[in-house]
Amino acid sequence: MQVTSDKKRIYLSAPHMSGNEQKYIKEAFETNWIAPLGPNVDAFEEELADYVGIGDAAAVSSGTAAIHLALKLLDVHQGDKVFCSSLTFVASANPIIYLGAEPIFIDSEPKTWNMSPQALGHALEDAAREGHLPKAVIVVNLYGQSAQMDEIVSLCDSYNVPIIEDAAESLGSTYKGQASGTFGKFGVYSFNGNKIITTSGGGMLVSNDLESLKKARFLATQARDQAEHYEHSQMGYNYRLSNVLAGIGRAQLEVLAERVVARRAIFDRYYEELSAIPGIQFMPELEGSWSNRWLTALTIDEQEAGISRELLLKSLIEDNIEARPVWKPLHMQPLFEGTRFYAHNEEGIVSEQLFKSGLCLPSGSNMTEEEQMRIVDCMKKALNKHILLS
Ligand SMILES: *Cc1c(COP(=O)(O)O)cnc(C)c1O
Repeated sequence: MQVTSDKKRIYLSAPHMSGNEQKYIKEAFETNWIAPLGPNVDAFEEELADYVGIGDAAAVSSGTAAIHLALKLLDVHQGDKVFCSSLTFVASANPIIYLGAEPIFIDSEPKTWNMSPQALGHALEDAAREGHLPKAVIVVNLYGQSAQMDEIVSLCDSYNVPIIEDAAESLGSTYKGQASGTFGKFGVYSFNGNKIITTSGGGMLVSNDLESLKKARFLATQARDQAEHYEHSQMGYNYRLSNVLAGIGRAQLEVLAERVVARRAIFDRYYEELSAIPGIQFMPELEGSWSNRWLTALTIDEQEAGISRELLLKSLIEDNIEARPVWKPLHMQPLFEGTRFYAHNEEGIVSEQLFKSGLCLPSGSNMTEEEQMRIVDCMKKALNKHILLS
């Protein structure tokens, strides 16, 4: 697919600075704290832990690093099994294979597009019967929408399997009033350039287990033992966040609530303009949950809409609008060929259907009203053209 328009490019989710970032970066420069660690890192950790209401937070170089550390802290190694949502970005599962463990993928359910408690239940039953329970379950909150945490937590508790909540896309969201990312033994946030707030690159590992987070910091700084010289008894990583980038994070966290409001308003505009069109269905919001609407996602029923997701996507791309299909499920990826997978039910695989029909629209909080209407108009034009032709 190719851009044919000379209009200004609209990105899927562009960084949106608050203006205060320079203040914290300047402090770092003035005190010469151009290092991984320093006052901005400490403050960013404390402020984020306060914001989501959890015991402690460890700032790291990426969300992927945070997942890797969480698995490491749960003692995942070769021969272990780890369950993971299938409908997600590859970074949710890559750390499983860094450690030589075996991923087993779990399908989505239609109410949240996230991990199906029903499929998870079957997978846990089988694992218990085989005498080989997973070391962890990685639950993803897609596009800001929380998974059905009550059901998932209760299932995992009954088998005594810890949860890692991949909340890379759901910082600022809540489920029954509690912050997304705080439901498992560990929670993970990402500050990659396209996320709701960004440090250009970075992540956070959160937990109420303060000892584990101490260990995470130790592992993330090359596992250096207490000594004047460099003493090492364990393998470590270089995973800490730089003090300069943590400064960006502090300023971004100050505007997180505003960013959620802005992204939700963008969703509302798309909904208002497009939801009446036959065949268009927006990603639901589970009752009792509050999504940050990181990306507005919808599905297109080709029969009803008279146009395929593929053609609609093509129209957007030609108009220099960065839209994307919904994540390709990991159980369909060549990288994970042959891995086990549990479907939601026998009638069809929910994550595959979402991949085939799902579309993500530009949702950056700094999009102008004009840009939003350009996207809406492009969608309407493509949909109308097909109704007229058929
Ligand atoms: C972005 C993302 C990650 C990875 O975060 P990075 O900071 O880019 O390493 C992990 N999981 C999901 C679901 C994501 O969207």
